[in-house]
Amino acid sequence: MQKVAIIGGGASGLACAIEILKTVKNRDDVKVTVIEKLPRVGKKILVTGNGRCNLTNMDSATSGFRGDTEFAYVSLKKYTPESNIGFFNEIGLYTREEDEGRVYPLSNQASSVLDALRFECDRLGVEIICDYKVVHIKSVFNGAVQKIVINNKDRFDYVVVASGGKAAKVHGTDGDSYDLLKMTGHKITPIAPALVSLNCDEFTKALKGVRSICKMDLIIDGEKALENYGEVQFTDYGLSGIPIMQLSRFVSMSPSNDIYVNLDTTPDFTLDKIENYLFDRREFGTGICENLLIGVMNKQLCITLLKECGIAPNSKISDLSDNEIMKLAKLCKCWKIKIKTARGFDFAQVTAGGADCSQFNPETMESKLVENLFCCGEALDVDGDCGGYNLQWAWSSGRTAGHTIGERINNAQNQ
Ligand SMILES: Cc1cc2nc3c(=O)[nH]c(=O)nc-3n(C[C@H](O)[C@H](O)[C@H](O)COP(=O)(O)OP(=O)(O)OC[C@H]3O[C@@H](n4cnc5c(N)ncnc54)[C@H](O)[C@@H]3O)c2cc1C
Repeated sequence: MQKVAIIGGGASGLACAIEILKTVKNRDDVKVTVIEKLPRVGKKILVTGNGRCNLTNMDSATSGFRGDTEFAYVSLKKYTPESNIGFFNEIGLYTREEDEGRVYPLSNQASSVLDALRFECDRLGVEIICDYKVVHIKSVFNGAVQKIVINNKDRFDYVVVASGGKAAKVHGTDGDSYDLLKMTGHKITPIAPALVSLNCDEFTKALKGVRSICKMDLIIDGEKALENYGEVQFTDYGLSGIPIMQLSRFVSMSPSNDIYVNLDTTPDFTLDKIENYLFDRREFGTGICENLLIGVMNKQLCITLLKECGIAPNSKISDLSDNEIMKLAKLCKCWKIKIKTARGFDFAQVTAGGADCSQFNPETMESKLVENLFCCGEALDVDGDCGGYNLQWAWSSGRTAGHTIGERINNAQNQ
């Protein structure tokens, strides 16, 4: 009997378990055990995509990843979005593509993704052990026979570290993967929270709850690090929303304190056009300045920009000077917001950095240091953009490890 342990019953671990048992020719001779430290598997899957689970992105075979991308694209090209959608179709879950290649289950419920995975594990005879935390792994030899021992007692022929990264510890992930991999001699690259909101200095709480479509540049040490476009959400601590979260990896990875987000709050207007708009409003408009920009942006945002320019929101529109109008127009196009930090791991959706991929084989996910030890998912130094990329990586890397183990077992059974 060949025994496989998968540490972590998250996205990559469950995909790995299923792929092993779909690949092996004789399931009776194999025992696959998923070991999960929480009371149930897949808790994080339930909260993905705001409860809808954005389970892949149609563009994710060739773009949208950071970290060791060369390593990642090997399995991402093998287990493409189409392949992973096929994997889910086979277990009874159908999907729909929405804007920007984002793919969701037809049910619009993340719980159906987890259920489909759980039911398939059940059908294939995967053993699931919950409430059991793995704190120790080591490789031992009895003559030529190698086993990997978990928690100094359970011995396995193959072990897969699928215990995730350090983001969102409330869903079971607080960096255990790194400790386990270090025990077996693996290196961990610097880790940082990614896909997380940003804390800002001197930020005005008055904007809490305001959403606005903006263009934005992330400026680190005076250089543009990244640009983005989309809906910014203002909060009592700073900036949030998908386009902001996409910038966060660069903020948390940078040692610099000189970090700004330059917001273009009127992306549909050129500087000339917004200036002309303001001059027209002065000429034809009446009333007070807080209503000056109501035709183009959220009123509370207008009030904040006025204050930033030193213009009293209750002053008369007709009293504005040319200079004040030009200053306000410039601020609408480039509002320089100082960034203090990215919020921490507890608030992040993923971890940037992780297990050093150079110590793993990208074709198999097997460790180059410890035979029959595999790693997949967020534990590795790969992270993706918002939009289904991180789950795509979890399915693809998990299936790669699973397929390899299944084939190894087939070969051993043939001998
Ligand atoms: C709020 C939120 C929303 C997200 N939305 C999306 C989305 O819509 N689309 C997308 O692509 N990505 C999304 N992500 C990211 C995505 O969920 C993760 O990247 C992905 O789940 C990682 O898969 P994984 O298998 O590597 O790890 P995880 O899914 O995190 O699973 C790891 C499992 O290992 C268990 N574990 C940890 N340590 C141990 C131990 N010592 N012993 C035993 N078990 C252990 C954990 O309890 C956990 O169940 C989101 C993340 C969050 C937090």
